[in-house]
Amino acid sequence: MTAAAPSPCIGRFAPSPTGALHAGSLVAALASWLDARAHGGRWLVRIEDVDTPRCVPGADQLIPQQLAALGLVPDEPPLYQSQRGHLYQAALDTLVARDLAYPCACTRADIAQANAALGLAKTRHGELVYPGTCRPENGGLRGRAPRAWRLKVPQGPAALWTWHDRRLGPQTQALDATVGDFVIRRADGLWAYQLAVVVDDADQGITHIVRGEDLADNTPRQQWLQQCLDLPTPTYLHTPLVLDPHGEKLSKQHGAKALQPEHALTDIQRAGAVLGLCVSETTLEKWLESAQKAWPWC
Ligand code: GLU
Repeated sequence: MTAAAPSPCIGRFAPSPTGALHAGSLVAALASWLDARAHGGRWLVRIEDVDTPRCVPGADQLIPQQLAALGLVPDEPPLYQSQRGHLYQAALDTLVARDLAYPCACTRADIAQANAALGLAKTRHGELVYPGTCRPENGGLRGRAPRAWRLKVPQGPAALWTWHDRRLGPQTQALDATVGDFVIRRADGLWAYQLAVVVDDADQGITHIVRGEDLADNTPRQQWLQQCLDLPTPTYLHTPLVLDPHGEKLSKQHGAKALQPEHALTDIQRAGAVLGLCVSETTLEKWLESAQKAWPWC
């Protein structure tokens, strides 16, 4: 009798092309690559260019070039979310048919006003909890024009979402009190990150999600969406963030410097140190090989 083949591991790095790769985004890229390789798996790159107003021309080309200069080469050509609207539409149609999604007419001001009336404050990154104004059972659009589409989140005890992060351990979030019914198609017609990421991770067969810790609190929303669409749930590992001198997450928006190919070994060693990897080698190739062996989350 032959032993069952271990399930294949497929990891991914999913940058938004809002600028060049920098010391912060490299940590997530490297961690996802190391995790896939240490599991003997495949590694893919997906360009998350659905939020077109935030995309910087040329960044979608530059990021894969920067990754290649660091020895991080995907097993398939990068996939572009901007070309996958038909898949997101099909998912939305399914959610509507299942009575899980509904149109919403509320503006930010409407939501802020409704929250103020309920005595609710802003939560994550200043986002507002949606109080369910346009839920069909609360009266729906009441003659107002639809703007966005929202996904219903569970209410009451079922809203208390628990999940496991491979680095951070057990996590909990009350989906109703922290987020509320969330946007899956935006008022400007663009697809929301939550829907696109879930559809694509499933479509690409991603089994291991590795990304920055700032995205950890999206996980309950994404796992709920996976359940709503009968999709498998991958494992999750959220990596430490690189902070700027003010203690803020290093980001393209706040002027993080683009990585330069001539500093590849130093840059990768620095990113490795953020991940707790004390590997010192004299070439990039050797460093990547030793780091795979030292990868602690296998
Ligand atoms: N596109 C997202 C970003 O650049 C990452 C999405 C993800 O890894 O789930 O922040």
